Amino acid sequence: MRYLLSEIAQIVGGELHGVDREVREVVTDSRRSVCRESLFVAMVGENHDSHRYIIDTIGRGVESYIVERIDFEGVDGDISYIVVEHSITALQHLAAHHRKGFKGTVVGITGSRGKTIVKEWIAEAAPEGLKIFRSPRSYNSQLGVALSLLMIEGDEDIALIEAGISEPNEMARLEAMIAPDIAIITSIGEEHDEGFESSKQKIYEKLILARRASKVIYNSYYTELIPHIIYGNIGYIDAVDFAPATLDDEASRINSQIVAALLHALELGTPRFDALSSASMQFNIVEGICDSVIISDGYRSDRHSLTIALDALHTTATGRPTMVILSDVEQSDPSMVTAIIRSGVDKVFVVGANSKLYKSESELLSTLTPDMIRGHAILLIGELEAVAHRLIRKSHTTTLEVNLDSMIHNLNHYRKHLSTGCRLVAMVKANSYGAGNTEVAQILQHQGVDYLAVAFADEGSTLREGGITMPIIVLNADDGSFSQMVESRLEPEIYSLRSLQTFAEAVNMQGESRYPIHIKLDTGMHRLGFMESDIEGLTEELHKQRDRVYVASIFSHLATADMGDEGRVSTESQVALFERMCRSLIEGVGYNITRHIANSAAIIHYPESHFEMCRLGIGLYGFGDEGLRPVSRLKTRIVQIREVTEQSRIGYGGAGITSTTSRIATIPIGYADGLDRHLGCGAWSVRIGGESAPIIGRICMDSCMVDITSLNGVEEGDEVVIFSEEEGNTAEDMARVLGTISYEVLTSISTRVKRIYIKE
Ligand SMILES: *Cc1c(COP(=O)(O)O)cnc(C)c1O
Repeated sequence: MRYLLSEIAQIVGGELHGVDREVREVVTDSRRSVCRESLFVAMVGENHDSHRYIIDTIGRGVESYIVERIDFEGVDGDISYIVVEHSITALQHLAAHHRKGFKGTVVGITGSRGKTIVKEWIAEAAPEGLKIFRSPRSYNSQLGVALSLLMIEGDEDIALIEAGISEPNEMARLEAMIAPDIAIITSIGEEHDEGFESSKQKIYEKLILARRASKVIYNSYYTELIPHIIYGNIGYIDAVDFAPATLDDEASRINSQIVAALLHALELGTPRFDALSSASMQFNIVEGICDSVIISDGYRSDRHSLTIALDALHTTATGRPTMVILSDVEQSDPSMVTAIIRSGVDKVFVVGANSKLYKSESELLSTLTPDMIRGHAILLIGELEAVAHRLIRKSHTTTLEVNLDSMIHNLNHYRKHLSTGCRLVAMVKANSYGAGNTEVAQILQHQGVDYLAVAFADEGSTLREGGITMPIIVLNADDGSFSQMVESRLEPEIYSLRSLQTFAEAVNMQGESRYPIHIKLDTGMHRLGFMESDIEGLTEELHKQRDRVYVASIFSHLATADMGDEGRVSTESQVALFERMCRSLIEGVGYNITRHIANSAAIIHYPESHFEMCRLGIGLYGFGDEGLRPVSRLKTRIVQIREVTEQSRIGYGGAGITSTTSRIATIPIGYADGLDRHLGCGAWSVRIGGESAPIIGRICMDSCMVDITSLNGVEEGDEVVIFSEEEGNTAEDMARVLGTISYEVLTSISTRVKRIYIKE
């Protein structure tokens, strides 16, 4: 896109302040790469206000903004901004305008499943030479669709735009922007049914996308659609009449029929199904040599794929230095290198016959030293087989894969239970329940969580070093670390008069005043905290120390909120005592104070315990309620497979005995990695290619053996999943076997197991 700010102001009905200038792209995520021609659109969402990232983006060179309020305090520089009432609506108007100016055919794609794959397949199966725009993977929401449309450059023949809805009335707004010439309904399924009164209502809503389309493509395989189709109207095309690709699964065959029906509708002949790959734009993030992370994708050389790949690089990097290795520039747009450099990548290498620097991969590899790549996040673009082969770590180490998208899903799951204005503390103690430190905290900070809580001062300091600026509470603050805490702006839990006095002293010594502290009350857990009889003395002391510290919050911890009915009486009495103790303390100190007692379980089961803030722990990591997604997956690879005769004894003590001729695989994970020894001798089964294989014999310190006799086609080097989000294979299932809780399983994964983060 290419617009003057004055044009945009007119289109969106906003007021332009500052000089007029041209902008070439819209950015809404402040973590994304930006440049001088970016237009940053600040938005206020339910849990997120990106106006607070404006200063940061100005620092990175952005000069043009759409904002809902003027928030440029203390900024100098040549900033232009358009003030609007509602940023998303403004962006949608701009997108609709941009769409109207597009001369090619717009295809809108909706459906419960298959939207992305159908979109990718259309692009692959269409005749060569057509220029096709595809909305980026999963950009299908109210915001995503607007951003997608604005990425259309104008010289494309076809634009494929995905539209996703989860509630009634959403489609009308999407349709107003997309105004598709052809609408595709890929499938009708159970997804998002909770948002709709009936399947009929959902289908009706989806068909709103087709309101103005001249053709509608559907598949009567989904019989629920049939009553909604107007027969005899040539505009409706049933994909069931088209020959499917020869693929194994039914869903793929149905999707391929839809692709064929669309090409027919566009008079583009029959599809080139031989060209189909099942690869959508999924990034492959793997461990590299020298502590690097390698990101590669099914890259196609166009600017938009590049933008998304760079986003993946920057989100994966989480503080690491970044590097891009780009191949084959003669076929791609030369401005790509400029775009890569502009996005703030630290090092860029270009390989190819036309490159001045490296004519071949081996030439590049001969100059890349370990020091140059150590610790980097490296994005590989184009065909770089030799480079990938050298950089990707092939050792069979065990990794814990942490899915940050699942974590965001879980966070939103709990937020739905909170009333508006109720704030949230995310518990990231013990290395974020084993999931890792800074990366997790960064996501939570970005998601607008109000506080983080850690157990010890050191954990908090590590987060500060990793660039976490949000408030952090330290739960087990010990006297020895008080000065360090004030230095790192960490806020202590205060649970005794002695700790209150010592901390106030540390604040004073550091030359600080009115420092926030959090008062812990003991309402029945009997671990730490002031008892009811201590409140009077506490109030007095707080008065004495009021120039040095103030109470930012009062809290207590529930002992039985996750025990169902059995724990109800004691939870309710803890909540009642908490309320009473808070009242006396607040009266005593004479100012209002935020109160919090609810943990994950209480957020769901005790709405009356929410007060002004809640503390979310285990739920964030995927356990404790229906509909959550376990975020961690512990995996490794087979290092060796051997065949043994019946009655062979496996491992220490010969404790595993084969009953038939057996195939035994050795995997490099043992109790020193956190795989509890009690899981040996068949107590736990790992998954290989989706199938179960029991651990045979005792677990060793660094490895163990699994029985793969009943599995076919398993080879050395194959991936082995120890636990995952899959039913029957979760950390909670493992905890059940061990007679413990998921918390212990998660936090027992040793720090020598590398954490890898995944984010789409
Ligand atoms: C760990 C912890 C929590 C979180 O508990 P979950 O059961 O994981 O939600 C809340 N508050 C305190 C004080 C904690 O120590």
